[in-house]
Amino acid sequence: MKDLYGRNIDYMRVSITDRCNLRCKYCTPYGIKNVNHSDILTYEEILRICKCVSELGIKKIKITGGEPLVRLDSENLIRRIKSLPLIEKVTITTNAVLLQEKLHDFQAIDLDGINISLDTLNAEKYKEITGRDNFKKVWDSIEAALDTDIRIKLNCVSIGGFNDDEFIDFFKLCEKKNIDIRFIEMMPIGYGKQFKSIKGVEIFKLLQNEYSDLYEVKEKRGNGPARYFKSPSMKGCIGFIDAVNHKFCDTCNRIRLTSEGYLKSCLYFNYGIDLRSMIRSGADDESIKEAIKGAIINKPKEHKFYRLEDENKVEVKSMAQIGG
Ligand code: SAM
Repeated sequence: MKDLYGRNIDYMRVSITDRCNLRCKYCTPYGIKNVNHSDILTYEEILRICKCVSELGIKKIKITGGEPLVRLDSENLIRRIKSLPLIEKVTITTNAVLLQEKLHDFQAIDLDGINISLDTLNAEKYKEITGRDNFKKVWDSIEAALDTDIRIKLNCVSIGGFNDDEFIDFFKLCEKKNIDIRFIEMMPIGYGKQFKSIKGVEIFKLLQNEYSDLYEVKEKRGNGPARYFKSPSMKGCIGFIDAVNHKFCDTCNRIRLTSEGYLKSCLYFNYGIDLRSMIRSGADDESIKEAIKGAIINKPKEHKFYRLEDENKVEVKSMAQIGG
């Protein structure tokens, strides 16, 4: 991994909107307040920040939200980020409700990967957790995306009492489809605090019971800290992102830009550098880069989920507001 000012940062997550077309109970439930449009970074401002980080050495961008595909003309912004001279990789994470209609554009710009968030394979349960009857649309998007040459991954947040009876169904899906499926521990962030996470190690035990020929896949399969396993009967891999119980802060390689223009270097803490104010008060690129450099150098060494030492420093926003 590239060493940037003494830290191993090589990737920025960029939230392009706080809006979402789903109402997931643990993330963006009904009643959540939207940020004013004027407080959201414009596409020009986002591009400028991406250009600055690329000149500092961060060459990979993940587009997120809210739901990134609900922002008007998001495919055009993604295309423009992808064409910045120093940017090497652009990927997106989406709930896939609007994905199918945009796949053609994403193929045309040679998008480097799509992560699709889906916590259940059951249409009724999907409606229950997301508040919307969109399972078929999402499933059609997944099928269509698998027909392209873009790398597709599925992200499933493990939720006790909700999808813990479906893990084996997700393993079986990996036998049928060439897709990596990653289980993500529910983080005690925003509304996530009200839900029970299933530890990755519990799901791993289930996987081991189901497949005696399981082996760890060592080859790197993306930007993140997931560990991957596979059985010869599977076309894809099963991955684990154990953000809470198997802390991987020492390998955390990312910074995050919120839709309001705060640059956060750790999900857990509530502070960020206000790049929007800097840009809107006329800062030049060199000053913006200095501020970004400061955020990288001062990136906290570790999160403190479950060890609340200084509560007024802890993030209270939801993942959709931060840019999950
Ligand atoms: N709408 C896009 C999507 O669905 O991928 C991007 C934003 S969404 C906030 C990104 C991911 O964060 C989703 O997979 C969602 O399930 C996950 N997420 C939200 N709240 C979470 C929490 N408390 N713990 C773990 N993952 C969470």
